[in-house]
Amino acid sequence: MAFLVDRPVLVNGIGFVVIPHGRQVSSLHYCRCSRNKLRLTNWRVERRRKSLHILCCALRTKTESDREFWNEFYKNSINLPKTRFEQRANAAVKELEIQKFWEEHSIYEKILEANPHKTFFLHDGPPYANGALHIGHALNKILKDIICRYHLLRGFQARFIPGWDCHGLPIELKVWQSIPKSSHSQLSIIELRRRAAEFARKTVEEQKQSFKRFGVWGTWSRPYLTMSPEYEAAQIQVFGEMFMRGYIYRARKPVHWSPSSRTALAEAELEYPEDHVSTAIYVSFKVVSVGPHFLKDLSISPNNIELVIWTTTPWTLPANEAVAVNPDMTYILVKVASMNRFFIVAKDCMERLRDKLHLELQTIIELTGDSLVGMKYGHPILKNKVCPVVRGGSYITSESGTGLVHTAPGHGEEDFLVGKRENLPVTCPVDENGLFTKEAGELLCGHSVLGQGNKLVLELVDEMNMLLVKESYRHKYPYDWRTKEPTIYRTTEQWFASLENFREDVLKSIEEVEWIPESKKNLIRSMVMERSDWCISRQRSWGVPIPVFYDLSHTPVLDREILEHVKNIIQEKGSDAWFYLSEDELLPEKYRNRNLVKGMDTMDVWFDSGCSWAALSSNSNLSLPADLYLEGGDQHRGWFQSSLLTCVATKGHAPYRKALTHGFVLDEKGVKMSKSIGNVIDPIVVVSGGSNLKNNPAYGADVLRLWVASVDYRNEVFIGPNIIRQVADIYRKIRNTLRFMVGNLYDFRKQEDAISLAELPELDKYMLRIFGKFKESVENWYERYEFTFIYQALQRLCITELSNFYLDISKDRLYVSAPDDFRRRSCQTVLHILLEDLVRILAPILPHTAEDLWQCFESRQDVNAASVFQSGWISTNHLSSSFYLEDAFWDKLRMLRDDVNKCLEKAREEQLIGSSLQSRVGIYLDDDTKFSHSFRQLSNSSNQVDQLEYLLLVSQVEFVESKEHLWREYSYIRENNNNNNDIRYSVGVSKALGHKCIRCWNFSTTVLQNETHPQLCHRCVSIVEKLVASK
Ligand SMILES: [Zn+2]
Repeated sequence: MAFLVDRPVLVNGIGFVVIPHGRQVSSLHYCRCSRNKLRLTNWRVERRRKSLHILCCALRTKTESDREFWNEFYKNSINLPKTRFEQRANAAVKELEIQKFWEEHSIYEKILEANPHKTFFLHDGPPYANGALHIGHALNKILKDIICRYHLLRGFQARFIPGWDCHGLPIELKVWQSIPKSSHSQLSIIELRRRAAEFARKTVEEQKQSFKRFGVWGTWSRPYLTMSPEYEAAQIQVFGEMFMRGYIYRARKPVHWSPSSRTALAEAELEYPEDHVSTAIYVSFKVVSVGPHFLKDLSISPNNIELVIWTTTPWTLPANEAVAVNPDMTYILVKVASMNRFFIVAKDCMERLRDKLHLELQTIIELTGDSLVGMKYGHPILKNKVCPVVRGGSYITSESGTGLVHTAPGHGEEDFLVGKRENLPVTCPVDENGLFTKEAGELLCGHSVLGQGNKLVLELVDEMNMLLVKESYRHKYPYDWRTKEPTIYRTTEQWFASLENFREDVLKSIEEVEWIPESKKNLIRSMVMERSDWCISRQRSWGVPIPVFYDLSHTPVLDREILEHVKNIIQEKGSDAWFYLSEDELLPEKYRNRNLVKGMDTMDVWFDSGCSWAALSSNSNLSLPADLYLEGGDQHRGWFQSSLLTCVATKGHAPYRKALTHGFVLDEKGVKMSKSIGNVIDPIVVVSGGSNLKNNPAYGADVLRLWVASVDYRNEVFIGPNIIRQVADIYRKIRNTLRFMVGNLYDFRKQEDAISLAELPELDKYMLRIFGKFKESVENWYERYEFTFIYQALQRLCITELSNFYLDISKDRLYVSAPDDFRRRSCQTVLHILLEDLVRILAPILPHTAEDLWQCFESRQDVNAASVFQSGWISTNHLSSSFYLEDAFWDKLRMLRDDVNKCLEKAREEQLIGSSLQSRVGIYLDDDTKFSHSFRQLSNSSNQVDQLEYLLLVSQVEFVESKEHLWREYSYIRENNNNNNDIRYSVGVSKALGHKCIRCWNFSTTVLQNETHPQLCHRCVSIVEKLVASK
């Protein structure tokens, strides 16, 4: 029951109370001014005035009831903020409601429809559909969502089509692990593939739910999957085009081979741990004969000479075919002093060898590299086999080893190239499991080259007295990234994509792409320049088949017609068809009945995902090139590169305009996350809380997203419980600021109440200029994906500029003034302008909070937009109007304000004052400075906003004429006498004069002056009188 109260006429203990005309007056209503609850029967209508009845009732005593009555009135005359925007985010409930709102109202689809003209396409790199999401996935997808939501607000059709990488060994292995070993032989390829697909589908669904919970918008009901028939057909199309251009060939050559996975691997499937320990050995090969250019008149018999080589892979010795020398290097023949042995090594390696052998070596003669070519030596393992010394290349240096290089063309890329040039046989006596074959000799056959086989080779050379030194050697070594087991180089027949024919085009297209950060351009450039041909075939079943047939002589049979035919079958039935249909069913008519056999190799999964641009552009979801690819830094070796190669090979350009990278996520101490250390941060636990909500509260998606915005993602980023707590604290502060702003706009209607910019007080103009600069920077940073700067600026704006300064000062204006006072309406005008834009600026990063705020922001201009995301981007209004006080002045004023606050702090510590309003501030100004005039002028302004006492949140400010005066009358003096001539002052604090006004809490000598309102200051008296008069 709201009472409106007229100026009371108190005669003989009778007070007049006003209630609106038409209100039911029942006997249950009581007069608020009486604790005695006088029944209405005691009331009588005193007089009628327009729409009001004026009732009166008897009061207990004149003075007591008078005071109670007015106290209540004063209390109710304060404009306290009102809003539905809650102080606590309650994210676990509220965010889900907001997501439901978006879904039920098809907000995302409606925005895409409403934005038909400009498109922005951020093409999603597909995560692997294997297991739960980790924090790196969250970082990646949230960054993408921030960018897409920003573009949606800017009126772009920024459709995000999420994708998943579904084929490959890890999923295949999961299927194998899920069935008992005894049934392995009964598992058909089709059944294996069915189970693998099922596993992938289930994982996709789980990951999808998490991404959606993070607030990531996309066409989740229609993602792209690398295992869908349309995708596979598009991939076959790319393969076919590359094949027809002659970029794809089959060859026998050494490739990275994983014995643990029993398949060839591409560079992108390798890891290089630093601490792999190999056995390095120095071995001597006995010379059989010298070449034509060797010294003729040497008295030492060639049979006494030995070539010293160094290797870290002793198991490759059985495949040795030559020793390579650098023709431009100088070698020496040395005598081992204590024995009658003669070694050849590079001159610059002699000391190293001497140190290793602990033997004195005497140089006999220097030799050129060329003179060694043509020498023959006995094979280290195979008896009766003789091998040559050949010319190597500049890869042979004296930095390690002996300058003489053991060459096994079957087990190394450079060795293979040298072997090809020198017509050396390519032996590879190692099978797919990494075991020696018969070719390596009876003794070694069946032993693992990475285990026992390696040891046996060492024993063999030792028995022959050829092993000079054996030592442990710690170095980087390629491991299978899936099984975490070491790999080997092994020669097999594989399919390769040759880069030679289009490497230049790739390098050219790299120049055309904008790489962010820019340094990544050189990285991918050098990777492409150095990379050898891409081995694309895998000897596994869960993948897209290489659509090739072989005739009886094992020659591949493939042409445009076959490719087209197979593509159409896969488009219709999926790639399973390759495995269950017969050759004749897979082949076009004219190739049938020719005894052709289909190949069983599948494609490297990097070829799969590298064709995603083709899959999405084939159904016109993507017009090439995409505007942006955004992935982790390792993708220069992976998806950025495989996509680049397939697109340049077939389209002649890169599939993206920009490629942006983010770093990896480490824990708070910079340590890699691992289950064994227990430092793993699960993004879903951050959002929805853990099993123990006390330790792991549900921070909500917006806090996780704010963390994403807060990190400098271009480098390694860090997360842990403390970091999340800090971000949540900042979130809370931002939310409080927003709440204060929206809460103080509950009675503001822009059309009627706004003050024109030109009329605003100087403080408001200053605030608008701060905000104008903030807006400009933020837009710029969104365009450049610099979210960490936005985060910092947002924090500064909400906490430093608003909460601690503008809003702090504004409470008096907003709460104490009459509702439509100029000083209140002008502040509301500013808050309204700020909030209209701030809600949109926040929306890409904090979509749930912004949406929540939008729904609670009743006075917003755009009342038609159901969602903040339908409201468009921030206004481009020029916020500054003519102003008198420049920003440099405000900097000085805030400096002075800080000094005053320090004085107040001191005074409070010593209990001179409680609140700052209990104080009076004295200022001594040096009038010879630039801004002294402005300071004095401010104190004379009459708008009750710009006066110094309001800006400083104190009750009185006095300019004193001398320092002596200040020191005499005030305490806790602070002086600013720096050499900067703009402003010099001293400030001090004393107790405020007068009494405290019970309404505004300011101290004033006008309190106790008014007869009716003795407890009020003159300012409040006039407000209260105005309020009473307006009823
Ligand atoms: Zn007051």
